[in-house]
Amino acid sequence: MSVRDIAQVSYDVIVVGARCAGAATAMLLARAGLRVVVVDRGRAGTDTLSTHALMRGGVLQLARWGVLPDIVAAGTPPIRVTTFHYEDEVIRVPIKARDGVDALYAPRRTVLDAAMANAAGAAGAELVYGVTAGDVVRDGRGRVNGLSVHDSEGGRVTLRAGLVVGADGLRSTIAAHVNAPATAAGRHASGVLFAYWDGLPDDGNHWHYRASSSAGVIPTNGGQTCVFAAMPERRFDEVVRGGIPDGYRRIVAEAAPELAALLPEASMASSIKGFAPEPGFMRQAWGPGWALVGDAGYFRDPLTAHGITDAFRDAELLARAILAGGDQALAEYQTLRDEYARGVFDATDFVASFDWSMEALQARHRVMSDEMNREVAMLRALEPPGERPGASRADLPGAGTPASGGAGLPPASGGAGLPRTTAVAASAFASGGAE
Ligand SMILES: Cc1cc2nc3c(=O)[nH]c(=O)nc-3n(C[C@H](O)[C@H](O)[C@H](O)COP(=O)(O)OP(=O)(O)OC[C@H]3O[C@@H](n4cnc5c(N)ncnc54)[C@H](O)[C@@H]3O)c2cc1C
Repeated sequence: MSVRDIAQVSYDVIVVGARCAGAATAMLLARAGLRVVVVDRGRAGTDTLSTHALMRGGVLQLARWGVLPDIVAAGTPPIRVTTFHYEDEVIRVPIKARDGVDALYAPRRTVLDAAMANAAGAAGAELVYGVTAGDVVRDGRGRVNGLSVHDSEGGRVTLRAGLVVGADGLRSTIAAHVNAPATAAGRHASGVLFAYWDGLPDDGNHWHYRASSSAGVIPTNGGQTCVFAAMPERRFDEVVRGGIPDGYRRIVAEAAPELAALLPEASMASSIKGFAPEPGFMRQAWGPGWALVGDAGYFRDPLTAHGITDAFRDAELLARAILAGGDQALAEYQTLRDEYARGVFDATDFVASFDWSMEALQARHRVMSDEMNREVAMLRALEPPGERPGASRADLPGAGTPASGGAGLPPASGGAGLPRTTAVAASAFASGGAE
């Protein structure tokens, strides 16, 4: 479909961004019977600058949504153990089969985002690539009711909908145009370099921590292994200035000597990709006629590998709020997002500071483990996202329908009524391990 074709249609929801947050939100809304269009300025099936370890909550969402079989069928290896290396102390955490998840996965984004986009399309959402979102359009009362977009040939049209969802990532155009205020700011940031390797043993995820460096091993598709090197902000410029290949190998050798010893027997199968330090933020997640989901509304440092899991959790919370109808439901979406994101946000900021002892880091990982168990319990308590063919524009936020909560939106009162996490065993560390 061209931009001119989609401009002829009046949609219930426009989603900007067709990756994990946007495709998941569109899939859930389309399954419930809403008319949804997703625009993305990129191309279908492409990679993006991200490693891709999923936490238990992320895998759980794929399973609940029926997308996990596609990930497994793409040859994504199951990850059955996560090993934490606190300097020379090694803690192996087997991934227990529970909560409907018997292994973790780390699908390449070419696999994961494509599977999500396919699921959204199969549900009836219209996905249009090569289309860039510009400014939002407002009605006479200032409520967003459309979006200006253009394609690569310069075709510029206005799309109309009851709600515009910004799922357009860290540098969200939608957040900028609606002036979404920041509600929290991180103080720390790490720099990351990563590459893919052939010939490394598949021994699950490994997370290595030293005083001012970190490294990780993530088995993924095609028998390859993603190896990342991370460092505090203060070191990134110097490491990159000295040459990225040398800097990457230097940080891996420093953080994980036992891993570095394996590299001469393996071969690097990609270029080295770099992500410069970027402090986290949380933004207001909704306003009249608009909402934000995924990195557009909430970004945390990559070091705790929770962004995709966050996006999948919040896509469902947002979809349920939209289906419940009314601005109050969107307000509850933000309350819930913050309730489940804030602990990980704070812990991630702490980890990214590299200003910790190994004891303090382990303690913070246990806090993250509690947070992730709480997240999983909340997601499990949601009724399965089913079809809701009766949903229509009349139910949309701003269309005059009061929030009913009838779409299974859990209470925004701090999770009262939701299963709470039980204490985790002392050995149950979490960051990137989700046990
Ligand atoms: C180095 C690094 C490593 C990471 N490692 C992990 C990890 O191991 N595990 C994990 O869970 N998370 C990880 N993350 C975080 C994860 O990548 C993000 O949280 C996740 O990609 C957010 O998904 P999203 O759908 O919100 O946004 P994105 O994946 O950024 O997708 C946004 C989409 O919006 C489109 N878009 C943007 N602007 C426009 C516009 N104006 N018009 C149209 N389309 C637009 C883009 O083309 C893009 O396709 C990592 C991040 C980084 C940077």
